[in-house]
Amino acid sequence: MKNNAFIESQKQFDWAAKQLNLDKKLRTSLRYPQNFIQKRLIIRGDDGRIKTFTAFRSQYNNALGPFKGGLRFHPEETADTVRALSAWMTWKCSLTGLPLGGGKGGVVCNPKKLSEKELEKISKAYAKKFAKHFGPWTDIPAPDVYTNSQTMAWMLEAYEQSVGISAPGTFTGKPVELGGHEGRTEATGLGVVITTREAMKHVGMNPKKSTAIIQGFGNVGQYAAKHFEKLGLKIIGYSDSSGAIFNKNGIKFEDALKFKIKNKSLRKFPKAEAMSNEQLLEQNCDIFIPAALENVITEKNADKIKAKIIAEGANGPTTVKADEILYNNSIFVIPDLLCNAGGVVGSYFEWVQNNSGENWTLKKYNDELDKVLTNAFQTVVKTYETEKHINMRQAAYLVAVKRVADAMKLRGRV
Ligand code: NAD
Repeated sequence: MKNNAFIESQKQFDWAAKQLNLDKKLRTSLRYPQNFIQKRLIIRGDDGRIKTFTAFRSQYNNALGPFKGGLRFHPEETADTVRALSAWMTWKCSLTGLPLGGGKGGVVCNPKKLSEKELEKISKAYAKKFAKHFGPWTDIPAPDVYTNSQTMAWMLEAYEQSVGISAPGTFTGKPVELGGHEGRTEATGLGVVITTREAMKHVGMNPKKSTAIIQGFGNVGQYAAKHFEKLGLKIIGYSDSSGAIFNKNGIKFEDALKFKIKNKSLRKFPKAEAMSNEQLLEQNCDIFIPAALENVITEKNADKIKAKIIAEGANGPTTVKADEILYNNSIFVIPDLLCNAGGVVGSYFEWVQNNSGENWTLKKYNDELDKVLTNAFQTVVKTYETEKHINMRQAAYLVAVKRVADAMKLRGRV
């Protein structure tokens, strides 16, 4: 049976709460979302029939600022994956020092089986149904798995129609024309590379002599690949939901991207060995980047990973038991909270500009991203080294949970 992501997220929190000696009341309130909203979306499909979809929004905690977090369109979305992801967003915003809380949402649907028009209807129905819960000072969604800037454009339109005001800061990851920033699309992938660059310095690895394997070839995986190549790494394997490709001599990012765009999948990519996602995970490489879904590194396969660094582009790719195995095998894990935080930091920059009327250059956007993430990396490493015998995820949790707990106490919520 698949691990329950929410239970995994609670186990991670429980560990930090115990270490930080949080009292029982505070622990209980930080173990669950503040609000969990579930609704049914009803649209008319292209065939004229009515279609219904379950939709969620988990508002985990807003002690540090408005709820913030992405929206997924995925057939296997559940209330508990959304709850877990909203908890991780809370810790992520806290870890990077943003004045934002955590949230997450999702619609149970299969975008691959829906037309553009149907996706537009679902997006607009979602924004309309949840409009009273959203706003630039209340809850700010963004794109995530199988949603993108177009989804945000549709949602912004339906939201503004519902509430009768113009409020672009309600959604981030928007198209540039609607108040988005050109840096946002690449921000998560670039952030993965910034934090991995710092990790390589920390463990003493030379990027120009290192290899990487990327699991998942969507927004995060693709831009991570692009920036890893710029840093000098050789990418020797990729995968997507159709399977994996591997070539120890390297597969150029541009070639993989062109093939994926043309064929919609990486399967049958020439000049590479085809294999399963499981096999790819076991190949020799220096850095392994899970950039697809949660719970892919488990107690069953963690021992087979040969990489020296795991850079968690995806949210929640590693189970608690797998973490122990990786730690015992001296694999340096850059936890998701830190590794993929570039997305929410970039979203925060977009929100700041929407609310202040500023317009940053791409250089300023990327320089600020680098500063925030490098700083967060150094903070986590400091705790990791001071505490001893804890892993990087535990160090990140100690920093992140403490900030939220302090804010809860200052507000007198407990
Ligand atoms: P995406 O939809 O753009 O891409 C997902 C990719 O994963 C696709 O290539 C898909 O084919 C692949 N995939 C799906 N199932 C797979 C499997 N079983 N094995 C291998 N590949 C598989 O999504 P994304 O935005 O790139 O998000 C990927 C991960 O990163 C998610 O965990 C998401 O929560 C996390 N994340 C995304 C952002 C962001 O800004 N997009 C920010 C932070 C975290």
